[in-house]
Amino acid sequence: MERVILVRYGEIALKGENRRDFELALKRNIEESLEDLEGVRVRRAHGRFFVEGPGLAVTGAVDRLSRIPGVVSVSPARLVPNDLDEIAGAARDIVAEFIEDGRRSAHHAVSAGPEREGERAIAFKVASKRAWKGFPLTSPELDARIGAFLLRTYPELRVDVHHPSLTLGIEVREDGTYLYSKEIPGPGGLPAGTAGKGVLLLSGGIDSPVAGYLAARRGIRVLALHFWSYPITSQRSRDKVVDLAKILRRYDRSVRLYVAHFTEIQTRIMEKCPEKFRVVVMRRMMMRVAEAFALKKGALCIVTGENVGQVASQTLESLRAIEEVTTLPVIRPLACFDKRETVELARKIGTYETSCLPYEDCCTVFVPRHPATKPGLEESRAAESALDIEDLVEKCVENIEEIPLDADRS
Ligand code: ATP
Ligand code: MG
Repeated sequence: MERVILVRYGEIALKGENRRDFELALKRNIEESLEDLEGVRVRRAHGRFFVEGPGLAVTGAVDRLSRIPGVVSVSPARLVPNDLDEIAGAARDIVAEFIEDGRRSAHHAVSAGPEREGERAIAFKVASKRAWKGFPLTSPELDARIGAFLLRTYPELRVDVHHPSLTLGIEVREDGTYLYSKEIPGPGGLPAGTAGKGVLLLSGGIDSPVAGYLAARRGIRVLALHFWSYPITSQRSRDKVVDLAKILRRYDRSVRLYVAHFTEIQTRIMEKCPEKFRVVVMRRMMMRVAEAFALKKGALCIVTGENVGQVASQTLESLRAIEEVTTLPVIRPLACFDKRETVELARKIGTYETSCLPYEDCCTVFVPRHPATKPGLEESRAAESALDIEDLVEKCVENIEEIPLDADRS
């Protein structure tokens, strides 16, 4: 018996060249996510990946795999020779584990409700698939044989093919039979990197990390760029962004973090721009720096956490005035989300708590009491006319610093 992890991915709408790229990228991303584990091999067969090796005994390998964009679901499995006794033995072990897990977890059907000795509390079914026709039993025959064997072995079990709490998957393939009982959903989407690179404007807020996750899930390789205005904003606010980037790395190991020193630009804006337009000018400057940086890095888009209508700087007029200064596509994955939906997703991906830590954003510090909510294009251009834009942007881009995200994993 060997332990393997089955990794399923979506292939719908993937044809020819695209599909090959998708599979290669996903394989690379899987390997990268497990590279610290001993002797792990990733093999593609039958339209899925099989991950094998001694290092998989480490708890967390399944969790890591279930976070990789492009992965539809993950099943820890056992691989045995195509022999009925071997299959039955593995089935018995998997059910034993399931029962044991149920005893440990208070929520499970086994421990819920009055439990009587010998009561058949666990609804189960066997779902066999005979992909290799050399095996003597058909799928329904295998279901029946293994099902009957399990019923004899475990008095806790009863068959329920419609609402099972335990489904034992059995796949008979030429190289052996795979058995599993868990199917952990992955994020779906496309493997990070297949769409090309994008510069993510990453603040310490709730929205932009979620936007980064969604971008990675559409195949965008995320280069996170944070605008930092030290000492107006503290070292702590920067550390917070580092923590957020590390959380994003759980989904895509290749996420990078860069810090743009923004103090000078902000100071000039304070000095030279009318207060009402400070925010829109600041955003335009961020966009210009982001664009220049994107071109330098070969990135094809800018990703932000902006949302329509949420705050003064995010009315359609503001968004238009901000976007005017770049020709790159600006991707706003949260544009039409409700805050509630964003928060839910932030919780799910694990950025919410870090985002909620108190910190000063360069925006919160600079926001005037009455910002223009509908800045026109002419007004916005006029508001920044006293700035030496080219020079400020060039200097800022030149001084962008990469922050190494150390190798700790979780
Ligand atoms: P977030 O929760 O992401 O901060 P928000 O709803 O608070 O978003 P704003 O603070 O107005 O909105 O920022 C809008 C977007 O601009 C952010 O989602 C982010 O993409 C970008 N942004 C804002 N401040 C910074 C910063 N200091 N560094 C990098 N990007 C930033
Ligand atoms: Mg913010």
